[in-house]
Amino acid sequence: MSELKFDTRKIKAGYNPQDNNLAISPPIYQTTAYDFKSTDHAQNLFTYKEAGYLYTRVGNPTVNYFAERVKALDGAKNAVAVGSGMAAISYTLLNLAAKGGTILASPYLYGGTIDAFDRLFPELGIKIKLTDAVLDPARLEAEITDDVKAVYVESISNPNAYLLDIDGISEVAHRHGVPVVVDNTLATPYLYRPLEHGADIVVYSATKALTGHGNIIAGVILDNGNMSYYTKEKYPQFYEKIVMLKGKSPDEIFPDNFFIFRLILVYLNLLGAALSPQDAYLGIIGLETLSERVAKQSANAAKIAAYLESSPAVEWVRHPSLKSYKFRELAEKNLPNGGGGVLSFGIKGTPEQEAAFLNNIELFHYHVNLGDARSLIVDSPNTTHSELNEEEFRLADIPHNLIRISAGLEDADDLINDLEQAFKAAGLL
Ligand SMILES: *Cc1c(COP(=O)(O)O)cnc(C)c1O
Repeated sequence: MSELKFDTRKIKAGYNPQDNNLAISPPIYQTTAYDFKSTDHAQNLFTYKEAGYLYTRVGNPTVNYFAERVKALDGAKNAVAVGSGMAAISYTLLNLAAKGGTILASPYLYGGTIDAFDRLFPELGIKIKLTDAVLDPARLEAEITDDVKAVYVESISNPNAYLLDIDGISEVAHRHGVPVVVDNTLATPYLYRPLEHGADIVVYSATKALTGHGNIIAGVILDNGNMSYYTKEKYPQFYEKIVMLKGKSPDEIFPDNFFIFRLILVYLNLLGAALSPQDAYLGIIGLETLSERVAKQSANAAKIAAYLESSPAVEWVRHPSLKSYKFRELAEKNLPNGGGGVLSFGIKGTPEQEAAFLNNIELFHYHVNLGDARSLIVDSPNTTHSELNEEEFRLADIPHNLIRISAGLEDADDLINDLEQAFKAAGLL
């Protein structure tokens, strides 16, 4: 499968009709549990001597087809799908810092992630250090102390479209035996594949452009199969004997996949954010049009960004397609398929005019999702990122007049006309 091209994999990978009565559309395995054939079979499944399904919280064929397809698109070795992007992020970082330690993180992140870093992780004894040194791998290296268990970044950040040098970041992290985790939600594997740039673990909110229809909440975790980072000294959690496994440890059972195996065994199993087979099915259908959707979203976003940059109602615009883009060189190198559907701009007006602009928008949906087939608009500082404190706003470079657009699949001229009429209605033009 890995020899087939991306667009073929997005239609074919991870599912074989031969396994399911030749059904071309993957069946929805709407089942809670799976019968054991015998007591031996039950014991073999529980101790992972034999592959198979036990209970849908920890494994379901439809959910597995979805995970396998994303895995093939990203060129990953191991994969699991979970119930949300937040579950993917939390489970991944809990698994890495199970014994405590520090997560060294980019400040250019999804608001919910920052919220988890502020309120959830410290409660569990895990330190988070946000650092703008992620912009400069040489400077980042100095911050990778012995206590650091992972470097955490977004490939294209939300809402600012900051682009990071994952190759450089991975190189310095690996020198210190630390894996790099990339939230690749905004990019999707169509625009950027972090594992090809040295990253070790990829997390997705599959809720967004990856599946693209604003109809499910889902997450995916992938890794590159390189387990050599997880030394016994630094990551003892992978080497501990588990009673349920008849005294074996995760690394003994799956030497090439113990990161995700332990994540399923501990976090998916015990915290329980499982993806439903129905939603996994919708996700698979969404993946079939990934390239076509993200290409059009990128093109629409580029047209909207160019319009906004020429508008007197706008102070600044951020999108990888623009000449004025802060990370122009990196974008040219790393994003040959387009700059993605998300752009942000600063509105030139009072908060009242900003409100009037948003209240007069007709075609864009005013809500907090992104990557949808529909175009979306939102005032991030007041909504998706409202949990940030002033220091975090400053560090994340989110000005208070920022408006985020997620370009959908409509006609770009109609979208631009809608922005124009709303600027006028707000007295900005
Ligand atoms: C939405 C989003 C998340 C959270 O995903 P959910 O599926 O809503 O839990 C994480 N990271 C990024 C970049 C997002 O946009």
